[in-house]
Amino acid sequence: MEMSKYGRLKVVGFFVIMIAAVILFSSFFAGLWGGKEGESKEPVKINMTADMTVEEFGKVNNLSNELLKEVFSLTDKKDLKKTIDQTGISTEQVLAKVKKEKALHEEFKSKNWFLIPLKFALWIVFLVMVFVLIRKRAITARVRKILYFAAFVLFGVILGSDPSPMGTVKDAIVLLGTSGVIFPPRMIALAVFLLTVFLANRFICSWGCQLGTFQDAIFRINRREKDRRGIFPQIKLPFAVTNTIRIITFAALAFIAFVWGLDMIGAVDPFKMFKPSVVAVYGWVFIGALLIASLFIYRPWCHLFCPFGLVAWIVEKMSVFKIQVNYDTCIACEKCVQACPSTVMEGILKRDRIVPDCFSCATCIEVCPTKSISFKAGKRRMPPPDKYEKK
Ligand code: SF4
Ligand code: SF4
Repeated sequence: MEMSKYGRLKVVGFFVIMIAAVILFSSFFAGLWGGKEGESKEPVKINMTADMTVEEFGKVNNLSNELLKEVFSLTDKKDLKKTIDQTGISTEQVLAKVKKEKALHEEFKSKNWFLIPLKFALWIVFLVMVFVLIRKRAITARVRKILYFAAFVLFGVILGSDPSPMGTVKDAIVLLGTSGVIFPPRMIALAVFLLTVFLANRFICSWGCQLGTFQDAIFRINRREKDRRGIFPQIKLPFAVTNTIRIITFAALAFIAFVWGLDMIGAVDPFKMFKPSVVAVYGWVFIGALLIASLFIYRPWCHLFCPFGLVAWIVEKMSVFKIQVNYDTCIACEKCVQACPSTVMEGILKRDRIVPDCFSCATCIEVCPTKSISFKAGKRRMPPPDKYEKK
């Protein structure tokens, strides 16, 4: 009794210290990066009258000559003196073109072009290192905790909220819906993230995403020493429920962006906790609730709301490397089912047609007494029909 009280106090203590430290150090590093990344962008406003010259139009709206050249297809400097009417382009066309060009320009300006390649390079190194550790079965409860702490400190606290896997999907939908443009560098980032999912399951989510690893680290501080059960009880929500909420969130995000031109997630975006100065009070209420929930539910943001989570769950069905069970040596003790923080292992063993997101955490590999579980390439075999009883 005394022991469990002590354990619970430790969980609460760690939780509070961790959150306070993340906010404090994130503020420091966000300031260090010059406050560029993660900033919300103002909607594009354009002032125009038909008798304005192109040059005047540029000055009033603070547009560069280069941008004017793109919009009005100018061939000569003298064309700047033409009125908008004389260019032969309708005011609607001009507005639409400028809005698009300006949105792209703002997007480009809002990025930190030193930090982004640095972060991707570190992601690759870190993920390769974890991949090797998993293949060597070297991820123990202790190593897992250290890796999660290292990941959210490096990719979140130090390197900030942007870029992130979630941001690539969410911002792409919002930018397309609000300004009708696609930002090519973001599409490249999304392709890289999805490639990692195609190659090695949810590796980027499990070990690279700043918010994913932070939620996982919180979940693991509420686990007993061997990382098999919670100190406070932990709940596994049915996947049918969590995935339905996630699909509804995705649809609402797209609908609100395309119909009302708004970013539904922006105001409560939990990735912004790594840039605390831009989070409003209601944002903190949502983030606080999410982080407390992370003690009891495995990765609530990933399972309930994340747009990248939904896309990656679909792509992971085609992953080359994934969790596989050797049914010839498996003794059906189901220790992996108990230890899996989610309902994935249960789904695999009970031959469910729809298997939830596997975050490649390797907990099942560690607990299996016969070393029957591994992270390897190839098609996942179906278990023998009657080996595992359905509950
Ligand atoms: S599903 Fe989770 S880990 Fe993956 S991008 Fe979303 S927040 Fe990050
Ligand atoms: S099956 Fe469960 S325990 Fe195993 S790697 Fe996936 S999420 Fe982790």
